[in-house]
This record gives sequence, C-alpha cells and structure tokens, in this order.
Amino acid sequence: MAAPIAIVAAMHEELKALLAQMPDEQRVRVAGRDFWVGHLQGQPVVAVLSRIGKVAAAVTATVLLERFGVRAIVFSGVAGGLAPGVNVGDVVVATELLQHDMDASPLFPKYEVPLMGISRFTADAVISDALAVVAEESLRDPVGLVGQEAADEFGLRSPKVHRGLLISGDRFVSTAAESEALRRHLPKALAVEMEGAAVAQVCHDYGVPFAAMRTISDRADDEAHGDFARFVAEVASRYSLALVGAWLAKLPAT
Ligand code: SAH
Repeated sequence: MAAPIAIVAAMHEELKALLAQMPDEQRVRVAGRDFWVGHLQGQPVVAVLSRIGKVAAAVTATVLLERFGVRAIVFSGVAGGLAPGVNVGDVVVATELLQHDMDASPLFPKYEVPLMGISRFTADAVISDALAVVAEESLRDPVGLVGQEAADEFGLRSPKVHRGLLISGDRFVSTAAESEALRRHLPKALAVEMEGAAVAQVCHDYGVPFAAMRTISDRADDEAHGDFARFVAEVASRYSLALVGAWLAKLPAT
C-alpha cells in the first residue's frame, strides 16, 4: 500500500470541510492531536489540524512523519498579505519559507537556523507547481468556489495566485507598523503566517517533500482580526477543499 499524503489544515473549519469529503476516516490520537486516516479523492491521506504556532506545527509534522510515514506534507491555511497586490481572497503558493522571528545574530546571520546554515527552506517544486495550476483554475470562478454571497461580502472579484517567499513566526501580525517592518526587512515576502516554515524545517530534516498554500485572510494590518472567523468558514475552507481536492484528484492512482 502506498504511503499516505498528509494534509495539514491550520484552522478547524478547514479540517471540517476536508473530513466531510473523506468517506472512511479513522481517528488516531497521538500527542493530544486527532489524526484522521482515510482517503480523499481516492488517495490515502492523513488529515490533521496543525495547531497554531511553530512548535505546535513542528510536533504535528514530526508525528506525521514518524508514526504515519507520510510521503509528503501539504499545508493549507490562511495568511496575512504583505507584498503590495497580495490581497484578501488571493492565494499564495510558497516556493520558499523563512522564520521571520529567528535571530541568533551576531553568532549566526539573522534568519538563519543555527547549525543548519539555512534561512530559506525550499518547497517541493512538483507539488507546488501542481497546486499553483489548480489554484489558477479554481480562482477563475470565485463565485463558483465560494458562492455569490461570500464573494460579495469579501469583495472577491478577480483573486490571484502568487508564488514566492512565505514567512512564519510566533506572532499574529495585526498592526500596520509591524507589517511595514516585515516588508522593510524582507521585501520579497508575499505573506506572513505562523506555521509553514517550521513544518518546512521538519520536512527538510526528514527529506520529505513539503508544500504550502495559503489563502490571504487579511493584510496583517490594524484590521487583521476583522472578519477572520467568517472568512475562514466562508472562503478559506472552501478554497482549501477545492484546491487540495483538485490536486489529489489529478495524482496517479495508488
Ligand atoms: N482568532 C483565531 C486565531 C488564529 S491565529 C482563532 O480563533 O483561531 C492566525 C492563524 O492564521 C495562524 O494559523 C496563522 O498561520 C494564520 N494567519 C492569518 N493571518 C495572519 C497574520 N496576519 N499574522 C500571522 N498569522 C496569520
């Protein structure tokens, strides 16, 4: 039997949407987390909530690799847009991930993970390319994806797919001053979240492919906490299900 693929969701609503499409999920409880083993689009998967923050997500990833022997980890969640033009309702597919709160300078260069000599972890190109393709396809019809009401409420007109640097840290970035500082120090960063680069580091250590896609829920500014819960329920979880589902459906049968 082929090793499963891990689908890691950042938010409860997203996981709920994924589980609703799994015909056969079995719950396995490890380290206080519920891992859902089953199939999605005919592919063997383990779906799990990452929990919030770098350490929590790293533990989740390690359990997926050690206990469930997953052959790849795909992370799906929401993030705050940083670069100009990365707007609410857009999708970022990471090519590289960095921990913006890692700083052991002057012993090591800022952002570098000590003793690893790495500050940017590379996402798997094959999976990321495939996710970007399905994202482009799905976002062509935002109303079809989330319904007219949610599309109007969140002003989703022509959502875009961006590819590039995704940054992670143990902070919910919710002031214009902080997002401005991140933009100044890391001008290439497209979006900020709290887990991706930690999971990328774990996958790097294990030599297992990793990819991340994030729906932009806010602009990491003073309004960042606005309609967060509603956005996740009405937009991000639908994006997540559509994109992950479409990607899995295109994989060769195992
Ligand atoms: N109020 C939420 C808290 C979520 S924390 C709740 O009740 O659950 C924010 C989550 O979304 C994290 O998983 C993080 O990865 C992502 N995120 C979205 N916008 C973010 C931002 N502006 N800064 C940091 N993380 C953000």
